[in-house]
Amino acid sequence: MPGHRVGKIKSRVIVIGAGIGGLTAGALLARRGYSVLILDQALVPGGCASTFKRKGFTFDVGATQVAGLETGGIHHRIFSELDIDLPPARPCDPACAVFLPGENTPINVWRDRQKWQAERQRQFPGSEPFWELIAALFKASWKFQGRDPVLPPRNIWDLLQLTKAVRPGTLITVPYTLFTVGDALRAYKLADDHRLRTFLDLQLKLYSQVDAEETALLYAATALSVSQEPQGLFHLEGSMQVLSDRLVSALERDNGQLLMRHTVEQIKVAQGKAKAVVIRNQKTGETWTEPADHIIANVTVQNLVKLLSDKVPTGYKKRVEKLPPASGAFVVYLGVDASAIPFDCPPHLQFMYDANGPIGENNSLFVSVSHPSDGRAPTGQATIIASSFVDPEPWWKTDNYEGLKQKFTEDAIARLAQYFYLKSETIIHIEAATPRTFAYYTARDRGIVGGIGQRIPTFGPFGFANRTPINHLWLVGDSTHPGEGTAGVSYSALTVVRQIDEH
Ligand SMILES: Cc1cc2nc3c(=O)[nH]c(=O)nc-3n(C[C@H](O)[C@H](O)[C@H](O)COP(=O)(O)OP(=O)(O)OC[C@H]3O[C@@H](n4cnc5c(N)ncnc54)[C@H](O)[C@@H]3O)c2cc1C
Repeated sequence: MPGHRVGKIKSRVIVIGAGIGGLTAGALLARRGYSVLILDQALVPGGCASTFKRKGFTFDVGATQVAGLETGGIHHRIFSELDIDLPPARPCDPACAVFLPGENTPINVWRDRQKWQAERQRQFPGSEPFWELIAALFKASWKFQGRDPVLPPRNIWDLLQLTKAVRPGTLITVPYTLFTVGDALRAYKLADDHRLRTFLDLQLKLYSQVDAEETALLYAATALSVSQEPQGLFHLEGSMQVLSDRLVSALERDNGQLLMRHTVEQIKVAQGKAKAVVIRNQKTGETWTEPADHIIANVTVQNLVKLLSDKVPTGYKKRVEKLPPASGAFVVYLGVDASAIPFDCPPHLQFMYDANGPIGENNSLFVSVSHPSDGRAPTGQATIIASSFVDPEPWWKTDNYEGLKQKFTEDAIARLAQYFYLKSETIIHIEAATPRTFAYYTARDRGIVGGIGQRIPTFGPFGFANRTPINHLWLVGDSTHPGEGTAGVSYSALTVVRQIDEH
């Protein structure tokens, strides 16, 4: 029963991976009385939402902003069930300041709805009917998602949960199921509004992995509306690590166990049912097989196929192989003197440089700046983290990896220096992460990040289910509905917990 520990110890559950998805699933199951063991190959839990420290600075590895902290938001709901406090956080306002190519003043995505409406009417004249459609779809989809549908459904119970979440108000979304943002722009005769399209491309790529032309409209409605009250984006005080640390404390309080530096090398399957995992202790080299009643894989769907080796159903394997190429990330972490930061700098900024260049490959940068006294930098100093989507393949094929990394780092700093005061005297620490770094620290296949992309054939009803074709094997994380982000993977964890509990 949610919120209460049951006396009887229920089934044994093994969770592969202590990302936010795995930790959330493990902590909730432990709270509900299951015997939980979480295994993670890394040194610290949190995966893409973990941190590292250098010279007094604390850097968020990947995720820097959090959705779902408001009352009724997914993190709030989960922390309430776990009976732990949400970490202190500061609302981001503007949620993002977006600088289009050649422009010196940003488009500010304000937290206040009216203020954001006035801003976008000023920035994109004539586009309000499009935004009204987005607002209407968001309202219906948000309420629908809040009733915990299971998407995509794979059995009668899943279908029942999905049906129960549907209300007359949800039906407004149905005609738009196969619409992309590009289709909606054409319908409103906005297809040639290049400023609007570039803005949408930049923002959507952050959340959906793809641009406006490809992003499913129903997904975009949430991505484009979640920054405003009563929802909103937040910067956690201290660092992103506090989210994982609190989930770990709840897990351990409820007798769950987390073993770091333990790699799962294989999932054992017999008669179509997941039975055990093969674990390697990285410190001792010891390997053993650990049985479980349920196995939750908090990995990419590409990693899941590898963990199953010859036991993966052919259709599933082919589906994964046919996925469009996934993105990697290039990230620059700078520790700087506070004088490098312009006065009144927003917490998140997005820049695009060459109007004809790609979105990514350093031509666009998403930047997160620490706030004085938020615990990420010593007094009088600050952190700047800039990320860009990149094609992972060249990072694996190059015979001059260090040279490529150096060039990307220098290019990113040169571009950031157009806004920040970045000179040798203001830069204290420089570090960078590439797809190879993400593959090493998070074990994600080829260092791909952000899920499978929210295109029509892969979003919501058409995506990968949490219920895999192998009985008692579950998938959580950003390869599943509702996609990437700490809030998204927490939803997927809650779905799996409900599915296991229903058994
Ligand atoms: C640069 C960047 C910026 C981002 N910005 C944001 C943001 O601002 N806000 C936001 O909400 N989201 C953001 N995201 C996305 C967000 O970080 C992820 O979607 C989310 O954290 C993924 O969580 P997860 O639990 O699915 O997986 P992961 O974080 O990938 O965790 C998986 C865990 O499993 C472990 N693991 C994998 N394989 C094995 C194995 N075989 N054995 C043992 N352990 C294993 C890994 O070590 C890892 O700890 C960003 C991502 C990146 C890369």
